[in-house]
Formats: sequence, structure tokens, C-alpha cells
Amino acid sequence: MSGENCIFCKIVAGQLPAKKVYEDDDILAFHDINPWAPVHFLMIPKAHIPSMAQLDESHQAVMGKIMTLAPSLALEQGCRPYPEGGFRVMVNTGEDGRQEVPHLHVHVMGGPRPWAKG
Ligand code: 5GP
Ligand code: ZN
Repeated sequence: MSGENCIFCKIVAGQLPAKKVYEDDDILAFHDINPWAPVHFLMIPKAHIPSMAQLDESHQAVMGKIMTLAPSLALEQGCRPYPEGGFRVMVNTGEDGRQEVPHLHVHVMGGPRPWAKG
């Protein structure tokens, strides 16, 4: 189920280091290596799914887990509470979506402005 030479599969397998935020059997969250914001982590399904474009009904549970866990992890990592604080969630998909790493990942960004980007 892992993508050959996929850097995020290598992080899942422990072959590349990452600063982990959360892990369970299905998903992994870790800090982005080049953060846009004071808080910037990525949430990924452990199974290799290239992008959001490949999602189907079989992925509802894992994607639901990512989306429902994101708010508590965001607060834990230093995002300020809603509504004054909050966070930005982004899923770049494909060339036009400016996706660079072809393993589905959900960016969660937050913290006090200004941010480096976004
Ligand atoms: P994309 O443009 O594909 O949505 O974003 C990929 C993200 O992955 C970028 O924000 C980039 O900084 C991050 N990234 C790329 N390689 C690594 C890595 O080896 N480790 C970590 N932690 N983040 C990475
Ligand atoms: Zn992968």
C-alpha cells in the first residue's frame, strides 16, 4: 500500500525523520519542514493515496478522522481559539492545485499573524 520513493510513506515507515504531532493506526500528523505560519502541520492517511482526486467512499472514515481531529490538534499546537484565532486548512491537489508531494496531505496552519505565506 506504500508508494515507491514517496517521502511521506518513508516518514510513515520511520525511514525519514519527522516531528510528529499525532499518530494512530490510520493517520499521522507531523510538522511541515518549511512552515508558512507559526503553527503548520500536515495530516496524512498512512496508506498511500496520491491526492484528493483519488478519494472514494472507502476513504470516508480516514478522511473524517483527519478532519474531525484537526481542530483539537490545532489548539494543542498553539492555534488560538475560534473565532479570534482559528486556523487554515488546505489540500493542494494536482498540478493546478500546486501539489508538490504526491501523497495526500491536509495542511493545518494557524497562530498569530503575520505569517510567512498564506
Ligand atoms: P504541497 O505543495 O504538496 O501541498 O506541500 C507539501 C508540503 O510538504 C510543503 O509545505 C513542504 O514544506 C512539506 N514537505 C516536503 N518535504 C517534507 C519532508 O521531508 N518533511 C516534512 N516534514 N515536510 C515536508
Ligand atoms: Zn506515500
